[in-house]
Amino acid sequence: MPPSLPGLHHITALSGAAQDTLNFYADVLGLRLVKRTVNFDDPMTHHLYYGDAVGRPGTLLTFFPWPQAQPGRPGAGMVQALSFGIPAGTLDDWADRLEAADVAIQRAERFGAPVLSFGDPSGLSLELVATDASNDTAWTEGPNPPEAPLQSLHAPTLPVFPDDRTPDLFTDLFGWEPVGTDGDRLRLQAPDAPLAPAVDLLRRDRHPSGRMGQGTVHHIAFRARNADEQAQWQAALRDRGVQVTEVKDRRYFQSIYFRDPDWTSGLLFEIATDGPGFLIDEDENTLGETLQLPSSLSNRRDEIEAALPTLVPPRP
Ligand code: ZN
Repeated sequence: MPPSLPGLHHITALSGAAQDTLNFYADVLGLRLVKRTVNFDDPMTHHLYYGDAVGRPGTLLTFFPWPQAQPGRPGAGMVQALSFGIPAGTLDDWADRLEAADVAIQRAERFGAPVLSFGDPSGLSLELVATDASNDTAWTEGPNPPEAPLQSLHAPTLPVFPDDRTPDLFTDLFGWEPVGTDGDRLRLQAPDAPLAPAVDLLRRDRHPSGRMGQGTVHHIAFRARNADEQAQWQAALRDRGVQVTEVKDRRYFQSIYFRDPDWTSGLLFEIATDGPGFLIDEDENTLGETLQLPSSLSNRRDEIEAALPTLVPPRP
C-alpha cells in the first residue's frame, strides 16, 4: 500500500442551467472551463470541468447540470461546503469582486485564517480561504481575470457522526494526520500533497437530512498517482470490508467509488488517477472549447449535440 493518499483530486456537484454556472465560475471566480463533455452514464447531459490552466488534480470542480431538478439541501451523507485557497492578503479584493458581481458574502475565521462564504447561482456553498499554498499553473487568462486567482481546492466540510470511523479511514488507511480542531471541526491533512491536502470533518451528533438536487455535492474524489496505487487502495479498502466498485474509465482519469455508513459516514468517495489528464484529447491552448466525446459515443455526436444546450463563453 502506498504511504499516503496525496490530497483531493476533484469535487463533483449538481447545478442548475449550465450557462449560469459557466458565467459564474469562468467570469466571477476566474476558473478555466477545462473540459466540456457529457455524463458518460447519461450522455444527453453535460459534464463540465473547471480548474486551473491545465486541469491539474486538486484544482477541479465538475458539474452535472440538472436544470429541471429541485434545489437540493446539504446534510448528512453529503459534502456541506467546498473551499478554494486564495493567496494570503487578497481576501478583501475578493470580497470587493464578489460584491461587485452582486454575490452576498459572509466573513468568518477558521483555524486562524479569514474565510469568505457565499453561494453559487445554484445555491452551492462555497468558501474562499487565505492560504500560503500556491499553484504555478493557476489560470490567469479568463475573460475577467482576478488579480489573485484561485489556487486550488482547500479543505471541504464533511459532516460526520462522532462514533463513526471516518477519521480512522483518513488516519489509519489514507495516511493523513490530524492537524487541529476548531470547535467541532477536525482538520485532517495529507503529509505529501502539493495542492488540496486537507478535509474538515464536522463532528456532530445530528446533521440535517440532506436532499440531492441543484447546488449539492454529488461526491468527493481523492488522488491516486497512478493505476497501480489505485489498485492498492482498492484492495486495502476491501480488506477492511468496504464495498468498492470496479475501476471505471472516465477518459481523463480512472475511478473507483465507495460509500460506507461507518467508514465514510455515508458520503460518496472516489479515488481517481492523476492521468491521463485533460490534454489527452485537446491542446492546452484550446482546452474546454469544444465538446469532447469518448469513442464509445462518437457515432452519436449529432444526436448528443442537438440535445445539449448551447454554451457561450463569457467575453472580456
Ligand atoms: Zn468524480
